[in-house]
Amino acid sequence: MNLKDKVCLITGSASGIGLAIAERYLADGAKVVIADLNGDAAKATAETLNAKGPGKAMAVTMNVTDEAAVNAGVAEVIATWKKIDVLVSNAGIQIVHRLEEFPFEDWKKLLSIHLDGAFLTSKACLPHMYKAGSGAIIFMGSVHSKEASPLKSAYVTAKHGLIGLCKVIAKEGAEHGVRANVICPGFVKTPLVEKQIPEQAKTLGISEEDVVNKIMLGETVDKEFTTVEDVAEIAHVFAAFPTNALTGQSLVVSHGWFMQ
Ligand code: NAD
Repeated sequence: MNLKDKVCLITGSASGIGLAIAERYLADGAKVVIADLNGDAAKATAETLNAKGPGKAMAVTMNVTDEAAVNAGVAEVIATWKKIDVLVSNAGIQIVHRLEEFPFEDWKKLLSIHLDGAFLTSKACLPHMYKAGSGAIIFMGSVHSKEASPLKSAYVTAKHGLIGLCKVIAKEGAEHGVRANVICPGFVKTPLVEKQIPEQAKTLGISEEDVVNKIMLGETVDKEFTTVEDVAEIAHVFAAFPTNALTGQSLVVSHGWFMQ
């Protein structure tokens, strides 16, 4: 199971989990597309990755909520590398409010990045995968694809929704050799989570230490954060697994926070 010369488009990969997945795929000989809303960061990331290794990263500026931008980014990849073998729909944000105070605009923004983003990137990549007769789509879910937490109505709704979309793609894609799976990480210390610690402390009226120890890690078996490398390892398995035996699944990687 390796990704040698596979073209892997990863959204939101100028930072955090997406970046770690890009590094893991590159280490396995893949060609990676750093697709991010922040085009400057995507370019800088691709340059850094190319300076480190044999030079197989390209940057694409892509807002995953914008159909034209997604299609243009995918067209750029096809023009450069002629195919897309793996899509990791990873771009995401977090916005926390109590439901009765949740601004509708924030609700729509979050759902759009997570769900429209997964839909639009899948829609743009699938025809190329179908043409090739193989492909892997990976959605970045969360423990919140299976479990709920207060203040996260939009995020929990979006992350649950990704499992439904994955299952449909698994059924539609099977005859073309295309698989779809969801990774469901627990808390990983990335900029997305660092930002939440003071926000949750303020909203819940507790200390930042309590947010980490009681809320984020309270239900884990060992009070440890999941790491970006842990998530990247699962992303490697889902990308490289060679048959339809592994499709339509969602795997929780969370230090036992949620057990199925
Ligand atoms: P991060 O903030 O470090 O990185 C997110 C990246 O997505 C950024 O580079 C950002 O520029 C990009 N992005 C945001 N909006 C975009 C858009 N509209 N189009 C394209 N790119 C966009 O966050 P992270 O923690 O690495 O999160 C990555 C994914 O993992 C998200 O889907 C998140 O929900 C999920 N996740 C994170 C955790 C965690 O604890 N960090 C846990 C479970 C799931």
